[in-house]
Amino acid sequence: MLSIKNLHASVEDTEILKGIDLEVGDGEVHAIMGPNGSGKSTLAGVLAGRDGYTVGDGSVAFDGKDLLEMEPQERANEGLFLAFQYPVEIPGVSNIYLLKSAVNAARKHRGEEELDAMDLVAFIREKMKLTGMGDQLLYRSVNEGFSGGEKKRNEMLQMAVLEPKLAILDETDSGLDIDALKTVADAVNQLRDEKRSFILITHYQRLLDYIVPDQVHVLYNGQIAKSGDASLPQELEKTGYAWLTGAEQAPA
Ligand code: ADP
Ligand code: MG
Ligand code: MG
Repeated sequence: MLSIKNLHASVEDTEILKGIDLEVGDGEVHAIMGPNGSGKSTLAGVLAGRDGYTVGDGSVAFDGKDLLEMEPQERANEGLFLAFQYPVEIPGVSNIYLLKSAVNAARKHRGEEELDAMDLVAFIREKMKLTGMGDQLLYRSVNEGFSGGEKKRNEMLQMAVLEPKLAILDETDSGLDIDALKTVADAVNQLRDEKRSFILITHYQRLLDYIVPDQVHVLYNGQIAKSGDASLPQELEKTGYAWLTGAEQAPA
């Protein structure tokens, strides 16, 4: 699904990513943890194709194609979903309108027939059950005046209707309350299947109380310092990150 090899990237002449290697297989859920400033959001930004990053050495293949060569929209068309790309408010555009357009655009790119207006609404309603989003939010302007929790539900709904091959969620917001965390976890757990993959970037281990990842990686100083299974977050909870600086022993 995703193959990152020796990825280097800089922001304003400062190298942030210093050789990332990561293989995410079909249907796998990978969590990326690590202390603040280690490069997690930079990695997400580089994968999204956001402005402001200069990629040096390395390669990223997504479903066998060179991801770094693609424009951000092409990446989305190929089935990559990046949660943090969509919390923007779009006054004057109803949420349902955006969702309908997004569904048919995604279907078109997958070579599937577009849905008519009635089927679109039925499809979106089906996906709404998964995020527990209220009806009234469909007819409001996209994200305008939405609470943090409503934006999160809407973001998960966007993910659900787009049916991506790979979703990358950067949970930068340390202010996510437990309900928002559960919204994310429910959406991921329900959309998880043998084909669809996820990369969950999280500063805190709490999210991983609800989502059991296949692999967990600790990013530190632009490199993956340690990888392990779903038990690693609990270890980190005990040990903290002091071992990364060599002051203490790494978790077993
Ligand atoms: P994390 O998400 O793990 O907290 P980031 O990827 O946000 O880490 O940041 C990694 C490093 O890159 C930090 O030292 C941060 O200050 C630096 N950095 C990130 N974005 C920028 C930017 N736009 N300009 C300058 N430095 C940046
Ligand atoms: Mg940060
Ligand atoms: Mg971050």
